Amino acid sequence: MARIVMKFGGTSVADLDRIHNVARHVKREVDAGHEVAVVVSAMSGKTNELVGWVQNIPKVAGSNAPFYDAREYDAVVASGEQVTSGLLAIALQSMGINARSWQGWQIPIRTDNAHGAARILDIEGADIIRRMGEGQVAVVAGFQGLGPDNRLATLGRGGSDTSAVAIAAAVKADRCDIYTDVDGVYTTDPRIEPKARRLKKIAFEEMLEMASLGAKVLQVRSVELAMVHKVRTFVRSSFEDPDAPGMGDLLNPPGTLICDEEEIVEQEVVTGIAYAKDEAQISLRRLADRPGVSAAIFGPLAEAHINVDMIVQNISEDGSKTDMTFTVPSGDVDKALRVLGDNKEKIGYDVIQSEAGLVKVSVIGIGMRSHAGVAASAFRALADKGINIKAITTSEIKISILIDGPYAELAVRTLHSAYGLDKS
Ligand code: ADP
Ligand code: ASP
Ligand code: MG
Repeated sequence: MARIVMKFGGTSVADLDRIHNVARHVKREVDAGHEVAVVVSAMSGKTNELVGWVQNIPKVAGSNAPFYDAREYDAVVASGEQVTSGLLAIALQSMGINARSWQGWQIPIRTDNAHGAARILDIEGADIIRRMGEGQVAVVAGFQGLGPDNRLATLGRGGSDTSAVAIAAAVKADRCDIYTDVDGVYTTDPRIEPKARRLKKIAFEEMLEMASLGAKVLQVRSVELAMVHKVRTFVRSSFEDPDAPGMGDLLNPPGTLICDEEEIVEQEVVTGIAYAKDEAQISLRRLADRPGVSAAIFGPLAEAHINVDMIVQNISEDGSKTDMTFTVPSGDVDKALRVLGDNKEKIGYDVIQSEAGLVKVSVIGIGMRSHAGVAASAFRALADKGINIKAITTSEIKISILIDGPYAELAVRTLHSAYGLDKS
């Protein structure tokens, strides 16, 4: 007997038939004698609809501030998961399974106060553990918890993955299965590159990079938690027949295991390619080349909660003036330009230029630590396709390249094939 946390994403609970199908996956594990907690997302598209409602409330005449109370945003957008948790509990009950729904505040899943992007601080797992021991399935609404202000708090988009891994850690589950609409983690998004290969295993560090560089198959924070708490996490498909052979395999279920790199015997140099759309580039021209300039630029941007990513500074020709280029999410360009405009005197630049709609394509692999020339192959491959590189950043296990938006798909496929990742 094992204790298993099963998480089902939006497409897996998109309608009543799919919820019924999810219930069959849960029944399989219950019938095998396991203790089960389930985490659900909202029906696919629901959270987007709820966010849209919040953002489109008509403003007071004369006001153009896109303001709304983040606590009320959370009250609205957390509702999608309340619906699916109740529906799944009913579907399970109709199959004769003892089940009940749990909202984040009932457990409680305690978070910090960052409404809209809260972090889980603590989960009181005792009640769920006791009831699981009595044979009851806990159906937990993902994406939500209870803030220190006693208000609903949501965990940021894709946050149900994090709910699942955090609950798995709290109840000391033997396994956390993230069921989604693909049957595992692939070498790149299989919707962009049909030649992508499913990985049997991927190291935590690589999955962390893949997720933070755009692969939305897992929320970044869920991977961090799985790594820190050593939660055995699988990504697998909810669309396979719940009773197909091997689906109930306890040690090797079908899908991709996220694990320590030591567990991976055949480590490739490059494991995967990720991409992030909607990047924007801002350049400050003819800045004074003196100490304190970077602080004058990036301090105010940080205070405005603008996430700056790639930063490139030119070497000045004469030691007096230089240029600085960096990227921010496209949605933050206007805000960033305003902040930089307000600080023009202090920073001391000549002109600002900006360009939105760019894409960051990244090559990821732990094997890069011990191999030279990995970056050069990427540059060559992109050059052969006539793709211009606007900025580059590297770390020990990744290379990120900024390019024009329309080239995203071509660049992903080109790099995928350049590193021999295409399936044969
Ligand atoms: P869910 O609603 O189940 O949480 P998501 O849409 O958040 O599902 O994540 C699954 C999607 O992630 C897939 O449909 C796929 O298009 C995308 N994806 C991006 N990169 C990868 C990758 N490397 N491997 C698998 N899926 C990926
Ligand atoms: N429903 C939330 C979202 O769409 C959380 C999730 O699906 O993981 O972001
Ligand atoms: Mg998701």
